[in-house]
Amino acid sequence: MHLSPHSLRQIDDAYLQSLEVEALRGLSMRLLADLKEAWDRLNQGPENSSRPPSSRAPWERKNGGGPETDADAEADALAADDDRAPEPAAANPAEPKPAEPKPAEPKPAEPKPTRKPGKQPGAPGIGRTQVFQANAEQSHYPERCAGCGQPLAPAGAVAYTGFQAVDLRWDDPARPGLTLWVVDHRYYETPCPCGHRTRAVAGQGVVDPLLAGIELSEWRLVGPGLAALIVALALRFRLSRARIQEFLAEWLGLELSIGTIHQTLHEASAAVAPAEDELVRAVLESDLLHADETAWPEAKQTRWLWVFVATTATLYYVAGRGKELVENVLDGFTGWLMSDGWGSYRHYARRLRCWAHLIRKARGLAQSGDRAARAFGRLVLDTLEALMAAVYAAREGPPPVDLPTQHASLLAALHAACEQGQGSTHQKTHALAVELLNDWEAIFQVLSHPELPLTNNAAERALRHWVILRKLSLGTRTPVGSRVVALLASVIDTCHQRGHTPWRYLERAIADRRAGLPLAPLPQ
Ligand SMILES: [Zn+2]
Repeated sequence: MHLSPHSLRQIDDAYLQSLEVEALRGLSMRLLADLKEAWDRLNQGPENSSRPPSSRAPWERKNGGGPETDADAEADALAADDDRAPEPAAANPAEPKPAEPKPAEPKPAEPKPTRKPGKQPGAPGIGRTQVFQANAEQSHYPERCAGCGQPLAPAGAVAYTGFQAVDLRWDDPARPGLTLWVVDHRYYETPCPCGHRTRAVAGQGVVDPLLAGIELSEWRLVGPGLAALIVALALRFRLSRARIQEFLAEWLGLELSIGTIHQTLHEASAAVAPAEDELVRAVLESDLLHADETAWPEAKQTRWLWVFVATTATLYYVAGRGKELVENVLDGFTGWLMSDGWGSYRHYARRLRCWAHLIRKARGLAQSGDRAARAFGRLVLDTLEALMAAVYAAREGPPPVDLPTQHASLLAALHAACEQGQGSTHQKTHALAVELLNDWEAIFQVLSHPELPLTNNAAERALRHWVILRKLSLGTRTPVGSRVVALLASVIDTCHQRGHTPWRYLERAIADRRAGLPLAPLPQ
């Protein structure tokens, strides 16, 4: 938006009559741009057909924009308000409140009686009462007159509002450790010879429609570096919001409300949300992809945390367990897909199966009390182990004959045993035989391509960290909360995978996006 409500209120017929033609034309263009943006915002919504197709959530069906079920839709609607980040005192930076001694601080969320994990009933919603002596003052002046468009000099400017921001400095070679850095931000109103008075306003970023309710704004108590620390404490060190509050108070002497911490996490996620396009591209371009999924509670529903580990990126989603997500994410993927036996992956042609699962099942059968089951388990186990040794050997140097030919009789014997086991009344024998036969091609693909992996360790390792978070946090409460975790997890793990610390990137991402700038590409 070019014109703040403060500017609009000053513009009247008399002012328009007073402007020269060029100035009037410039003002018309800004008014027109604002009008179009206002209409776009009026029409914006998650189910809105005017949204570009690329902004559709990957877990939604391609035909028909709705969520997976009516129950989902209902839950989404119910949850939308629940997870809304608390509004800061000056939620609309386009029209900040007059200067107050108290800095901007979100109102603590009212704990709800039905609330699950996260906020405890009766938890103190401490507003910000601390005022620090600032390390620096930062003045914000309007650059141009919002009316006539002429450049403005700071002469005659008066501060009309301001707030105190607390940030974190670290990685300074001269000052090891963490340092809090307090800045007093002052926003100025500058008069123009044309009579218009223009106010500098805090920057505001554009938020992904799937994160409705979150705001990206420079008008924040928590600076970008401190925000990155809060994300690290929550997602990397898996601290609850209450523990983060305790840590900041006891180690940094900084009192933040639970609401502020919550809002900071949501805002950080909105800051990095545009990275999803880059991550999906990295997934699609990967020669090999490891996919896996694990249960993820979201309020009263069981959702699934999906992971896609590509060569240069790791991408997470919280979605249903249906095949929509896999189909949508992998639309255009031509590489190898390593997965477990879950049906959502079955439609994909170039598929690999994790042998670790099969070996575990075969070992279980080999220890069974049933004699036939024991024999079948032993046969499967011995065959897989012999073939595994052959794959390892082939990686050292190409075998004289390709592995499927070389081990044709071993494979034929296993196939025959599976056909027989398929008819077994022993439930686990039957299940393993059917699984091997159904996925035969995917399982033994690796014999023709010994350079490909035998296990899905990469995906399982990636999920392990988040499974522990799930156990500590009991999942998320709303679709927006789930998306916040998935986006931040994707960025954190991708940065680590590429050998970079995510926190510097996150700090910059938050600063840039709050200022309305585009998100920088992920570190390469
Ligand atoms: Zn002017």
